Amino acid sequence: MNMVFLNGEFLPPDLACIPVLDRGFIFGDGVYELIPVYSRRPFRLAEHLRRLQHSLDGIRLANPHTEAAWGELIGELIARNEGDDQSVYLHVTRGVAKRDHAFPAGVPPTVFMMSNPLVTPAPELRETGAAAVTAVDNRWLRCDIKAISLLPNVLLRQLAVDAGAMETILLRDGFLTEGAASNIFIVHGDTLLAPPKSHLMLPGITCDVVLELAAASGIPCEVREISEFEVRGAWEIWLTSSTREVLAVTLLDGKPVGDGKPGPMFRRMHALYQEYKATVMRAPAR
Ligand code: PMP
Repeated sequence: MNMVFLNGEFLPPDLACIPVLDRGFIFGDGVYELIPVYSRRPFRLAEHLRRLQHSLDGIRLANPHTEAAWGELIGELIARNEGDDQSVYLHVTRGVAKRDHAFPAGVPPTVFMMSNPLVTPAPELRETGAAAVTAVDNRWLRCDIKAISLLPNVLLRQLAVDAGAMETILLRDGFLTEGAASNIFIVHGDTLLAPPKSHLMLPGITCDVVLELAAASGIPCEVREISEFEVRGAWEIWLTSSTREVLAVTLLDGKPVGDGKPGPMFRRMHALYQEYKATVMRAPAR
C-alpha cells in the first residue's frame, strides 16, 4: 500500500490529517518541492534540497531537517511506495496556530510528503509537441520561492486548459519570465536562449540540467532578457520541468512555432537529456 509521511510518521493517506488551523491551509504559508525519482533514485536530490533551503530562507522558516535526514526520509518514502519511477512531493508549513498573520512563536512546522507514480509526457506528445498560450505574468515579486500559495499559477494554468493547451507562457513588462508550472527556453537560429534567474522566476532544476547539457555539448547558449517579440518569432520553444522533462511547444496562441513540429535543436536536447538520465541512474549511489 502507498504511504505518505506526516510529522515523523509514515501512514496511509486516508489517516493523514491536518488541523484546520494549519497555516498552510489558512494562509498558504509554506513551501514545497517536487523531486522526480527514476529507478527508485531521486534525481538531483542535493539541488532540490538546496532550493528547498532557499525557499525556507525566503519565508523565514527554519529547516526542520538536515540534508542527511531529508535524504533518509525521502529514501524511506520511495521504498514504501510502488513503482520505480515516482514523483516525491514534500511540503513544509509554518505549523498550527490561532489565526493571526504574524509568525507564531514556538510552533513546530508541519512536514508532509507523498509520492505518486512519475508521469512523463507520452511519446506521441514528444513527437507532436504541446500547445501553449501566453498571458501577462501577474504573480508577486518573489517567484523564486517555491511557495505553496499557488493561486496565481492555478488561474494562469487554467487559461491554457480553457484554450485546449498545455501551458501558459508568462510575459512581464514585455519580457519572458517562465511558464505557469515550467521554465521556458527559445531557439533563434543556432542559439538557445533562456531568461536570467531572478526573483521573477523559479530557478528550475531541469532548466539547470538543460543549460549544463547545452554547455557540455557546445550548443551556443545565451542567458539574457527575452522580449515578447523574440518569443513570438522563435524558431523553437521548449518548456522544462521535473515531470515534463524537456518538451517542445509547437503551437503558441494558436499559431505554429517554426514549422509547427519539434525542431532539430529540441530533438538533440531531448536525446542528451535521456542519455544524461540513464548515466545518472547507472552511476553508483552517493
Ligand atoms: N517554474 C514554475 C513556476 C514551476 O512550478 C516549475 C515546476 N515546479 C518550474 C518552473 C520547473 O522547475 P523544476 O524543473 O525544478 O521542476
